Amino acid sequence: PPVVPGHILDGLNPEQGRAVKSPSRAVVIQAGPGTGKTRTLTARIAWLLRENKAAPENILALTFTNKAAGELADRIESFIPQGGQLVTAATFHGFCLQMLKRYSDFKRGLMEDDLRLEVLARAAKAVTGEKKVPKRIVSKLDAWISRQKQQLKEPGDERQGDATDNAIEDFDPIWPEVYEAYDRTLQERGLADFEDLIFICFRLFSQDAGLLEQVREQYKFIFVDEYQDLNLGQYRLVRLLAENSHIFVIGDPDQSIYGFRGSDSRFFNRFEQDFPGCEKIRLRQNYRSTQTILDASFQVICTGDEVKNEAHKIYASVDGKQKISINETAGESAEAVAVGKIIEKGVGGLSFLSMDKGTGPDSGGDREYAFSDFAVLYRTRQQALAFVKAFEKAGIPFQTADREHWIHMAGIKDLLALVRIFLNRGSDADRQQFAQFLPGIEALSDPVDTSALLGTLGGWLDIAALGQTDEKLAAAWQRLNTLADRYPSPCDLLDALRLDQDPDFLDKRVEKVSLMTIHAAKGLEFPVVFLTGCENGMIPFARDGKSVEDPDEERRLFYVAMTRAKEMLYLTYARKRRIFGREQQRIRSCFVDDIETELARYKKAKKRVKKQKSRDIQLELF
Ligand code: ATP
Ligand code: MG
Repeated sequence: PPVVPGHILDGLNPEQGRAVKSPSRAVVIQAGPGTGKTRTLTARIAWLLRENKAAPENILALTFTNKAAGELADRIESFIPQGGQLVTAATFHGFCLQMLKRYSDFKRGLMEDDLRLEVLARAAKAVTGEKKVPKRIVSKLDAWISRQKQQLKEPGDERQGDATDNAIEDFDPIWPEVYEAYDRTLQERGLADFEDLIFICFRLFSQDAGLLEQVREQYKFIFVDEYQDLNLGQYRLVRLLAENSHIFVIGDPDQSIYGFRGSDSRFFNRFEQDFPGCEKIRLRQNYRSTQTILDASFQVICTGDEVKNEAHKIYASVDGKQKISINETAGESAEAVAVGKIIEKGVGGLSFLSMDKGTGPDSGGDREYAFSDFAVLYRTRQQALAFVKAFEKAGIPFQTADREHWIHMAGIKDLLALVRIFLNRGSDADRQQFAQFLPGIEALSDPVDTSALLGTLGGWLDIAALGQTDEKLAAAWQRLNTLADRYPSPCDLLDALRLDQDPDFLDKRVEKVSLMTIHAAKGLEFPVVFLTGCENGMIPFARDGKSVEDPDEERRLFYVAMTRAKEMLYLTYARKRRIFGREQQRIRSCFVDDIETELARYKKAKKRVKKQKSRDIQLELF
């Protein structure tokens, strides 16, 4: 369809319009959630294209999740049907992999986590001469090595073993040597880890001036969403590429939630120094949430800090007086069941604000809802389990935002293990999986020719799909098949899976409830949001049940979760929860207590607790 003149700028407020049409080479928008930052970024890209100020292949838009990258691409295409798809919209990791494949002979395959830990444990054993290295140490080493790569430190970097490193519990001066051994193995075996992508790409660009010039020449217009989440490697990469380009970034330091991956919002705060003369724009109108949701979320993020509060003021433009619903339940199963019931009520067009049957003057649900209007958010992936069970039982359609759910299904898992083994990326777990799968294949009528296994991926899928009758599994196969069609080789498919690049995830058009971690919900919005597991130890999260690593980051996470809600927000918690197989008493999250009681309705769990059947939860699903 032809582009309607003015369409791109329609409805934007003056500040948004100013950002879209800014003549400055460098523009930074700092604004709170739901103020239309991403929408403004998209509009600027569309506007530059429509005004012929930029060609689509000159535009690079970097984001943090595939979902965000996909949405960006979709929105640009809807504005600019011709050429819009030539814009590069990708995650940092996805973009770097693309660059490496295009401009170097990079043939290394991305490892899954279990293989990475295996290689690392072996390297640690070889270097230390120990027969066994405790899991705890391997995981610390793993985090440390990731951090080295995020900070662009090679093995043996003279900065290693400095005061920061020595402050790490269990740090051992031998770690740099393990890093070196680990990295050597990766090179020899043609493997790469996640952090390698940015590191190797950065190295490639900074060591090859000609190539860098070529890439800079191509990406004359650089856009970065969620700039507050950059880590050092990503920051240096952006600065390298944006030396003479136009750069447009948006961010909100209050939503910085990747500190555990080395992100540092100070890079965002430095933008004005890094790009002197840049234009800085603030947006103050929120178009997403009701005033109540905004007020409550500010109480959590500002905690009575008046100065901060003033700087953060943004105004709701959405009507709605529903209070925040704070609901206690008996246990994790009860929590999931209760959430399911509310959803059923909403979809049935019934009042559903309260978890009880009350229909007071302010009970909610004044319109009919679709399943896709609801999102269930949680801090840790394991929490999904109770919801998956409850929703399956109740027949509530749902989708999980991450690949974990379907790639771990028997059948899918078998096949992927098989592919990895043949591509020399198999872990011990893969080999065990394969051994079990083999009798399955042999049971098929035709003898399986192993050379066929090395043929086209489509062929493999056909072989393995023969045995699949299960409806749910069939859907997963279908998904894998469609995905396989999009990639030139099994290797590329595995890389894409590792990067979580399935564009079908979280398709908005699907009539399903979305289940996802708070991290995955970043940048998204839903009419009704359930933030579940609002308990101390869960959010704020404490790995060992006691100490919270970064309380401020946990608070920001809580804030991010709350601000996903458009009309209604539920904060739910369980009085008891099964943690590591043991039932524990839980205490409501301290963040919930920062919300003024006038803004909320409180619902207590029933006193009589039915015995929970949490024993039959099948952990192997995850
Ligand atoms: P977050 O910080 O959570 O990423 P954001 O600032 O990027 O939020 P957007 O997702 O761009 O916010 O916008 C939030 C919602 O407000 C979207 O539904 C968007 O379409 C809508 N919106 C943005 N600007 C306007 C406007 N001028 N008029 C009407 N709706 C708008
Ligand atoms: Mg956004």
